[in-house]
Amino acid sequence: MLQIKKYRLKALKVIGTVTFVVIALELESSNCPLCQSLLHVKGTRKRILYKSEDEKITLVIRRLYCEKCKRIHHELPDCIVPYKRYGAEVIENIVNGKGAEAPCPDGTVRRIRGWWKAIVTYFLNIQKTLEEKLSMEFSKPPAFREIVRAVANSNHWIFAHQV
Ligand SMILES: [Zn+2]
Repeated sequence: MLQIKKYRLKALKVIGTVTFVVIALELESSNCPLCQSLLHVKGTRKRILYKSEDEKITLVIRRLYCEKCKRIHHELPDCIVPYKRYGAEVIENIVNGKGAEAPCPDGTVRRIRGWWKAIVTYFLNIQKTLEEKLSMEFSKPPAFREIVRAVANSNHWIFAHQV
């Protein structure tokens, strides 16, 4: 997977439902996160993003293929947190202590908080390593989306149960 921060969402209306196509504005993400080879577009896929319990949107994201690794990398806009149903804005608010205002059920808020608690130290360590080894610059303190993107793009994403 790859995360991009410069993109626009182009709305497509198909009989009542709206689908957004993610359009990358920069070629910042055209290299394989594993081997740095150039990636080729190999179709698209749909990704559902929940805005609230009853409102969801569909995003069309690009499937990028690395010929060397023989792997597909999905190009995710940074409004998506990998493997999470809710968007980055909702999740960021929850991990920043604003769970009471979140547009999702209490159980989901608790699960997201638990996920963050389980991985935050690991994520911050990855960010620190990238800062030291690759001289990447982050805001101080680093923004939620920045950390998520850095971890995803350095191919260090893990699932909470692996922590
Ligand atoms: Zn590769």
